[in-house]
Amino acid sequence: MSYYVLARKWRPRTFQDMVGQESTLRILTNAIEQKRIHHAYLFTGTRGVGKTTLARILAKCLNCEANITATPCGICHACQAIDEGRFLDLFEIDAASRTKVEDTRELLDNVPYPPTQGRYKIYLIDEVHMLSHHSFNALLKTLEEPPEHIKFLLATTDPKRLPDTILSRCLQFHLKRISPEQIAKHLQHICKIEHVQHEWPALEKLAQVSDGSMRDALSLLDQAIAYGLGTIHTNDIHAMLGSTSQEDLLPLLKAIAAQDGKRLFNIISQLADHACSFQLLLEELINSFHQIAMIQIVPDAITETHLATFAQLFTPEDVQLYYQIALLGRRDLSFAPHPKQGFEMTMLRMLAFKPHLTQITTSTSTIESEQITPPVEPVVSANALPISNSSDHVLPWRELLPKLELSGMSYALASNCTFGNYSGNKFELMLSIHHKPMLNQKSQDRIAEALSRYFKNDIKLEIHLSSEELITPLKQQLDEQESRLAHAKETIMQDAQVKKLLDMYDATVEVSLIN
Ligand SMILES: [Zn+2]
Repeated sequence: MSYYVLARKWRPRTFQDMVGQESTLRILTNAIEQKRIHHAYLFTGTRGVGKTTLARILAKCLNCEANITATPCGICHACQAIDEGRFLDLFEIDAASRTKVEDTRELLDNVPYPPTQGRYKIYLIDEVHMLSHHSFNALLKTLEEPPEHIKFLLATTDPKRLPDTILSRCLQFHLKRISPEQIAKHLQHICKIEHVQHEWPALEKLAQVSDGSMRDALSLLDQAIAYGLGTIHTNDIHAMLGSTSQEDLLPLLKAIAAQDGKRLFNIISQLADHACSFQLLLEELINSFHQIAMIQIVPDAITETHLATFAQLFTPEDVQLYYQIALLGRRDLSFAPHPKQGFEMTMLRMLAFKPHLTQITTSTSTIESEQITPPVEPVVSANALPISNSSDHVLPWRELLPKLELSGMSYALASNCTFGNYSGNKFELMLSIHHKPMLNQKSQDRIAEALSRYFKNDIKLEIHLSSEELITPLKQQLDEQESRLAHAKETIMQDAQVKKLLDMYDATVEVSLIN
């Protein structure tokens, strides 16, 4: 299964290819066209918004053999070499990988020498706030008296940690998070061109959990394609991310409308059994109340018809109140000893502060009790590695995973790992080297927190990269899916009726249509 094909293939190569960042691009384009070139640029913003991508394109603008231009040709030697990462005058330094401190120092010491093949010698320093003390001094010295042939393109997620002396010498651009709509539309564009069948709500969900990062969105899209064996279904996305869909919430909303505490808690315990994330559940609930409020004010605003009933059942005051309760519930969820408990208290609050009880109970008498559909089906696997927790209970990583209540990127990372070792408070996981782009501190911290909570131990998580092929929970799930499909094909091919039809009409079975 090949991952990260899309992220690499769809990396923007020109300013026009970039999604979002319109104002930054306009300023840069105008400045370049008027040949007003600064000697140091600083791009700030959260991870995955396009800082280094933008810097690489700018490097092409400055070094394209045709001219200094905002629309580099893309075919000259310099443009191609930069795209392929082999341009001799572009030095890319990742200050966050501390092993390269010596190299960085050496590179910066070489600043005075002219470029070997390009117009400018360009230093692209990512996570520049992490530079060593010596490198910082070398950088500052160069910025104070920059040679004509040197350009610095700096990127950081944390500009506050840069000294003022550096900040004041750079032209600074803040790259915004890319909006979920822009991300979803871009994913749709890619799916169309790559001939990937998809459902729009699935892409919206991917965009939502990517949290403004196009890189994360493309990684998840790649995974989603692998997960759905080439097609992207909303249900698969929820299973992949450990999240719930809006339809899963309907029974919950009905129970709230009916003020039926008993049914409400039955639903919550079913959700807990299926390892759904209460954090995401609250987010989805907040989204639903927002949409219900919108329908109440502007009935045509939302096309989600399954929520329209609730616009009748709840008064606008109820919706405002529930929205507020859910919002506070989400904020405080991490303070609760257990997410389920926090979620239950939030639901109790919705029952306790019900302003229009009598009016609603009569109007909801027709709502029937309903079983909730499980968002994730836990499958027991015999060959997984054993993990023992404090009570010596043996549990494979794949079964432990849903109990950690992870979601989004941290769930995606964890499901791509295999178990390494657990002793003392050190928990080790293995990750295939191909999935290295998924590694980020935020996701690792979330996994460590979840493990600490589960084992009631202050877990130190280490994720080791491995070049071997790993049998991860995600891979197991994909393999099972494939074998189910193969089994279905076999059954159909051996069916007596089918055989008869095939003989009679000299027909063949269209295998790709079986699912
Ligand atoms: Zn060129």
